[in-house]
Formats: sequence, C-alpha cells, structure tokens
Amino acid sequence: MSYRGRFAPSPTGHLHFGSLVAAVGSWLCARHAGGEWLLRVEDIDPPREVPGSAASILAALPAFGLVADAPALFQSQRIVAYDAAFEQLRAAQQVFPCWCSRSELAGTGGVHRDGRCIASPQAGQLPAWRLRVPDIAIAFDDALQGPQRQSLRDEVGDFVIRRVEGLYSYQLACVVDDAFQGVTEVVRGQDLLDSTARQIWLQRCLGLPTPAYRHLPLVLDGEGRKLSKSEQAFPVDPADPLPAQRRALAFLRVPAPAAATDARDLLAQALANFDPADLPHCSGHSFA
Ligand code: GLU
Repeated sequence: MSYRGRFAPSPTGHLHFGSLVAAVGSWLCARHAGGEWLLRVEDIDPPREVPGSAASILAALPAFGLVADAPALFQSQRIVAYDAAFEQLRAAQQVFPCWCSRSELAGTGGVHRDGRCIASPQAGQLPAWRLRVPDIAIAFDDALQGPQRQSLRDEVGDFVIRRVEGLYSYQLACVVDDAFQGVTEVVRGQDLLDSTARQIWLQRCLGLPTPAYRHLPLVLDGEGRKLSKSEQAFPVDPADPLPAQRRALAFLRVPAPAAATDARDLLAQALANFDPADLPHCSGHSFA
C-alpha cells in the first residue's frame, strides 16, 4: 500500500508554531515516502471552535509550501459516518449509556472501569456513551517514541465516545476518518501519544486497519511548558513565512539551506536533505 499521511488541525485559533511543526513533519514524511499528504479539519467540537480559524489555517498552509493532494475533509460533514460507527458499536453491545458524574467517579480518579453505568439513569437528562474497555494491554511501536504499552482498563477505563450534548469524541472521529482517508502513518504531536492505545482499540472494535504512528516531540517554551496557542514567542505569519519555516525545520533537525529566500523553496530543499531517522525523539527544554 502506498504511503498516505495527514495533518488534522482543530480550528481553535490561527496556525501556531506547534501545529506548523506537525504539518511540516507529516508533509516531509509523506513526500519522502513518495506518498500523499491529506488535510482534515477537526471541527466537531463547536464550543471550542474559534470562528474563521479553519479558513485561516487552510489559507496559511500553502504559504509554507504545504499543499495537500485533495481538498480538506471537514469532520463537521462526517456525522453520518460517525453515526454509523456508533450504531455498529451499539449493535455489538460495546457501548453503554452513562449518567455518572465527576463526583461519582472521584473515588477511582475519574476512571470508569465497570463496563456499565454505576449511577441511576436521570430522567430527562441525556447520557454520555462510553466504550466498554476490557482488561487488555495495547502495545504498539511508535516510530519515534519506541515501544509503547497501555493497560486500557487501568489507565483509561471505559471512555466517552459520544458526549452528553450528542457530540462525538475526538477518538471516534479520528479513527473513522483516518480509515476513511486511507492514512497509513499518523505523524502528530507527542501530546496525542496517550490517545493512541484508545484509537487502536477502537480500530479493532470497528474492524478498521491500524496505521503506523510517529509522535513528534512537543514544542516547549523556555520553562519546559507546552507552547500554547496564545504565546507570541514563535509567531507564524503566512505573509512572512520564512522565519517560522526555518524554525520548524530547525526544531525537526532537518538541514535547510541558508540561501533560500522563499519558504516553498526552503521546504523543497529541506525535503532533499530529509531522513525520518534523524527526527528528534524529545525536544529538550532549550529550543525556545
Ligand atoms: N486535531 C488535533 C489537534 O489539533 C490533532 C489530531 C490528530 O492529529 O490526531 O491537536
């Protein structure tokens, strides 16, 4: 099967430096493999969405030389597919409605392990739907972070795949769409490493293929904190893309010619020097 990668931003603000690193990293891996690179806008969480940011992110990417092989997929238009996946899980009795409140789960550190709701159904109140998680350890090899293992029931528990408001969770939508888009390798930030075992379990429940995973180190600020979208320390300006592009390539340890005067040329030349084996495993705290 030929390689297919993707970049899947959430429209919660303008393209920021951490996202640019994920976009450049996933693009380089896809192009190095001679494969395709796809876009997906993860706009299934209206309360977190910042109006205009999907358009702003999509408009910014080409300035950095990041041009996808197909029009972007919008998750807000994929609800029918998530409904079908949900019904498949419900028919197989792998999900259950749950009215448990935070306080009911406080004794187990917020982890729900019973395979059924331990609260009473609340009249007039819609439930969340949780995936029943067996006592199973999910193991996978991350191309950058090495062998991973997570005991799903102990560390995660029965997890929500449809929220009280009826919104589908990131985990469900991501798994359905990675399969729909034919993604063969997921390259994304290390903050999502912890979601991967859940996603692999969902893939197994739904009979979907499991892609390879490569989690890039997070961009941290000078104090070792995850660089938040609000921080101005690493501006990403599509009108002046070269500085951020150079920084993203430096973060990914991809040699880039000093002479390039255009971000697209810089990326094309960086690709010629790129070897996924040289990507960093951890960021260290000194990058900023
Ligand atoms: N939408 C997620 C984010 O912007 C990324 C999801 C993924 O790459 O799986 O953080």
